[in-house]
Amino acid sequence: MTDRPLLMIPGPIEVSPAVLAAAAAPPRSHVAADFIEDFGTALARMREVWLAAADAQPFVLAGSGTLAMEMAVANLIDRGDRAVIVNTGYFSDRMAEMVRRRGAAVSEVRAEPGAAPDLADVETALADGSAKALFATHVDTSTGVRVDARALAELARRHGVLSVFDGVCATAGERFSMAEWGADIYLTASQKAIGLPPGLALLVASQRALAARERLDAPPPLALDFREWAPIFAAYEARKPAYFATPATTLVAALRVGLDEILGGAAAGAGARAALERRFQRHERVARALRAAWAVLGLEALPKSEELAAHTLSALYFPAGVGPDLVGGIRARGVIVAGGLLPALKSRYFRVGHMGHVLERPEDLLRTVRAVAESLAACEHRCNPEAAVDAARRRLADGLADPRA
Ligand code: PMP
Repeated sequence: MTDRPLLMIPGPIEVSPAVLAAAAAPPRSHVAADFIEDFGTALARMREVWLAAADAQPFVLAGSGTLAMEMAVANLIDRGDRAVIVNTGYFSDRMAEMVRRRGAAVSEVRAEPGAAPDLADVETALADGSAKALFATHVDTSTGVRVDARALAELARRHGVLSVFDGVCATAGERFSMAEWGADIYLTASQKAIGLPPGLALLVASQRALAARERLDAPPPLALDFREWAPIFAAYEARKPAYFATPATTLVAALRVGLDEILGGAAAGAGARAALERRFQRHERVARALRAAWAVLGLEALPKSEELAAHTLSALYFPAGVGPDLVGGIRARGVIVAGGLLPALKSRYFRVGHMGHVLERPEDLLRTVRAVAESLAACEHRCNPEAAVDAARRRLADGLADPRA
């Protein structure tokens, strides 16, 4: 399938051959013994990848990341509550709207596009003690900005506030240590750094988050209720059949494979942690290698500093004289990248995803750099495509020569 274009948007992404094979298998019954084994294993592996406490509860629903966001909001927020939203872009706006629709008051702490709000401003928003929860987007896919999730989670704990992190463009690609940092919900979708096709909403909740659901005046919609789902997943982990609503059995099998790949085949413990850390480092190295190439091409990143720049995608301004047609030019060279998403800047930038399986495929990463570079040159942007490919190649070779990288 060499003429198939390479999918380099920030999700869905290219998947590994093993995940593809699992996702293409005939459907199984949701109560078949081998399916129960896969599901129970996948749930336990989620705790490892999320670096979550042993008593944290994983949830896996058929749906996309938006459903996982809705599940988080619906189980924590009641009419009359107040929530603080750390707003870094398009998906933070979506989370704020969900909170408002539950009848809660929203205090948004904003920053200009490409920046993250100051921690001091977040602290001010929490200071009067009236907030119930803090919501943040770990990596906002519209800007490529990564917030300091650790600092935010710790701040929320200090103020006795629940913390929810949308990890849709981050989980398994950016460091996140749910138990150590004291975060209450970390959610994602299958089609990003988890390395699966789209179709699963994934969420892990702390005991504090589960207790908050029990204290709600207005229960969440039945299909999203922690209380309905938690016993089902507990049953699967105990290797018992259970039914509340039909799980996406084929994708759940693929989830087990994808999580096993992330954990390097280790079930838990030091081996799993080391594999996960290698995965984070690899995302970091690839992001750096690509940034070196973008710099050679004279492309400016939307995140205002290296520290804020996500390792899972690059959001890049079109250079002077180049516009959204560039994306079509890249597509014509066999690589699919994404346009802008943030309404205010939509036509001024484009996005390249670098998550999951392509991290193991330097040739695909270099093909992407070449496609971007040659399309820029075709748009009469003065640049040196060979130098850009070389810059990325050298950095990838440095990283990939190290067996632990
Ligand atoms: N949050 C973030 C950070 C995202 O990147 C996305 C999807 N790009 C979503 C939420 C929504 O996820 P989905 O499209 O799977 O509903």
